[in-house]
Amino acid sequence: MKSVQGRITLNRREARNTYRMRVAFEPFPARVDAGQFIHVRALPSEWDPLLRRPFSIMDAGEEGGNVSSWDLLYLVQGRVSGLMTEMQPGARLDVLGPLGHGYRPVPDAGRHLLVGGGVGVPPLYFLARQLLSRHQVAADRVVALVGARSADLLACVDDFRALGIPVRVSTDDGTAFEKGRVTDLMRREARPGDAIYTCGPEGMLHAVVALARDLQLSCQVSVERNMGCGLGACKTCVVDMRVPPGAPPKYRTTCREGPVFDAGDLP
Ligand SMILES: Cc1cc2nc3c(=O)[nH]c(=O)nc-3n(C[C@H](O)[C@H](O)[C@H](O)COP(=O)(O)OP(=O)(O)OC[C@H]3O[C@@H](n4cnc5c(N)ncnc54)[C@H](O)[C@@H]3O)c2cc1C
Repeated sequence: MKSVQGRITLNRREARNTYRMRVAFEPFPARVDAGQFIHVRALPSEWDPLLRRPFSIMDAGEEGGNVSSWDLLYLVQGRVSGLMTEMQPGARLDVLGPLGHGYRPVPDAGRHLLVGGGVGVPPLYFLARQLLSRHQVAADRVVALVGARSADLLACVDDFRALGIPVRVSTDDGTAFEKGRVTDLMRREARPGDAIYTCGPEGMLHAVVALARDLQLSCQVSVERNMGCGLGACKTCVVDMRVPPGAPPKYRTTCREGPVFDAGDLP
């Protein structure tokens, strides 16, 4: 892990308030596992905004020669993501990473169900790519379940489809695909022996974990907490861990020990 200066080669609107950014590096930075993230400094020469912001790596690619790239998919939420929308190809981006621990594919899973909500889909798209290429899993054993509040917020659906894997999509308001929650898709698709990997808004994560427990399926959760340093020092991003009754509380940092946790370790 180190701080690197990347060069933006793409910054394209993909859905409402949602953009895909490609950052090229020379030479290529470290090997990345799906679920790891980078910490972005929007204006390296300024004090404001002082803190970096975390974004999942959505893809890693070869740009040719000695140059490779990472893709991000970001939703405009506040100052930094707002500044990112104004960055043109050729601009420099100060990036720390890759950080954290990613998903650990379950070797003997029946199928791998990727359950993503909103802008939680980027690390799951990367996981799908790595399951197929790095782990040689057959395409029909990787299933993408994608949910969004409405059609105009859906992202990554065509990217998942281009991988040749089964893709099921829902919108809360029924403006596209099935009307309902992504957990409705999960309840219908999941079979005994499947492994669940999830990322999305906190309420959705609770619902996915509860359903995985009901169905007795293994489940890995990427937790998105606001963080300061990204290196495990400031402890702003800690999450509660499950402890036996009466035991003292236990915390883990999202940035260093996560962001991906086994659902069994969460309360
Ligand atoms: C591991 C990880 C991976 C992530 N990956 C992605 C991704 O792939 N794509 C994506 O779009 N987002 C991702 N996020 C979320 C993203 O980092 C935040 O949305 C980020 O804060 C946006 O920065 P901003 O300056 O644009 O908005 P901010 O100004 O940081 O505000 C974003 C929102 O968070 C609230 N907020 C800010 N600070 C705090 C705080 N300390 N406590 C409570 N609420 C606060 C604000 O009120 C606002 O609603 C990820 C987060 C984590 C932890």
